[in-house]
Amino acid sequence: MNAEILAVGTELLMGQIANTNAQYISGRLPEVGVNVYYHSVVGDNPKRLKDCLEIALKRSDAVIMTGGLGPTQDDLTKETVAETLGKKLVLHEESLKKIEEYFAKTNRPMAKNNIKQAYLPEGCIVISNNNGTAPGCIIESGGKVVIMLPGPPSEMKPMFEDTVIPYFLNKAKSMLVSKHIRMIGIGESAMEEKIMDLIQNQTNPTIAPYAKEGEVTLRITANCSSREEGEGLIAPVVDEIRKRLGNTIYSLEDKPLYAVVGEMLIEKNITIALAESCTGGLIAEMLTNVPGISRVFDRGIVSYSNQSKVECLGVNPETIQRFGAVSRETAVEMARGIKERSGTDIGLSVTGIAGPGGGTPQKPVGLVYIALAYGDQVECRELRLMGNRAKIRNITALNALDMIRLHIMNQ
Ligand code: ATP
Repeated sequence: MNAEILAVGTELLMGQIANTNAQYISGRLPEVGVNVYYHSVVGDNPKRLKDCLEIALKRSDAVIMTGGLGPTQDDLTKETVAETLGKKLVLHEESLKKIEEYFAKTNRPMAKNNIKQAYLPEGCIVISNNNGTAPGCIIESGGKVVIMLPGPPSEMKPMFEDTVIPYFLNKAKSMLVSKHIRMIGIGESAMEEKIMDLIQNQTNPTIAPYAKEGEVTLRITANCSSREEGEGLIAPVVDEIRKRLGNTIYSLEDKPLYAVVGEMLIEKNITIALAESCTGGLIAEMLTNVPGISRVFDRGIVSYSNQSKVECLGVNPETIQRFGAVSRETAVEMARGIKERSGTDIGLSVTGIAGPGGGTPQKPVGLVYIALAYGDQVECRELRLMGNRAKIRNITALNALDMIRLHIMNQ
């Protein structure tokens, strides 16, 4: 089955909001055997909406629409769809009751306009909305499917997951099952070289590499008739890739690196404190996203000035004077200092030049030192990064997390 997504909303056309609904829906449909061929956006204009819908119905098996289901006069999606498909709008009593209950629960008076939201095309499958007022619906007509969902992502997503995904799954003759292998510490081409023969000989599953800032992901996708079959096709390919890429792989579950590292620290009960200069607390922010991290995360200090490195971390002023604030020697003293002062198992420090100013020929923008102190040992990584300030800071944070990960794995 092929589908297209038709988002309705003048705000989208004006660039006031991004069409994240289309991105979300497109990301989920291949898994249930639906190929997305087109995305379109149209304003709140019934004539243009009708034109778009007619074009979509000519070229696609399913049209998934979001937006324009609200109570106001410019919310015309349902009326236009009903007219285009030659269906009447009829009152759906259950939806009206739900809308009334929604207003009662949120302690607001219900406007007369809201009754309009309970009118749905005759014979449709109603998708109830537990997070807002506008119900959605699935209409099967002339061998085509039209699905209408509300615009707000917080309403659209649960309705899509609970009703639309099972609807397509039920219809699917084949589906796609994917696994994402996430790696760090290896470039895209170096990774590709190691598995070139697998990529060249791929049929089912397919192997698609893609690079994100500072990391690489492989998506392994099987075309299959059930999840179990797909997982069976994917497993031997994943095993082979693991053999070749070893511990550059940090997740087989599409988890972000900070979550993997945070969970490792918690599981092994390894306590940590951070002293961040050029990342300005970014690593602490990432780690504290992980639920339960308070058991092992002691503190993070943003130590930007030389004075603070001396006062808060006990760095020797002579070290800074002799080697500079951005140096292996200063990074090592920062890591030792934070570890000793907080009494944790690990002390991790970062110092570097994030740019765009502040670089010299000897110490260019992108020069970063990360030190990890444990027991009476210290490891230090020197990075020479390219890119703007945000990129340098982000890649530095990822490298720091990777150092923690490798340290725990090697213990
Ligand atoms: P409501 O019941 O809130 O009136 P609706 O179905 O009429 O829902 P719209 O009025 O079109 O939806 O949009 C409401 C809000 O939903 C927008 O202001 C925007 O924040 C969000 N939204 C709408 N369409 C999209 C989209 N395609 N991607 C992301 N967000 C969207």
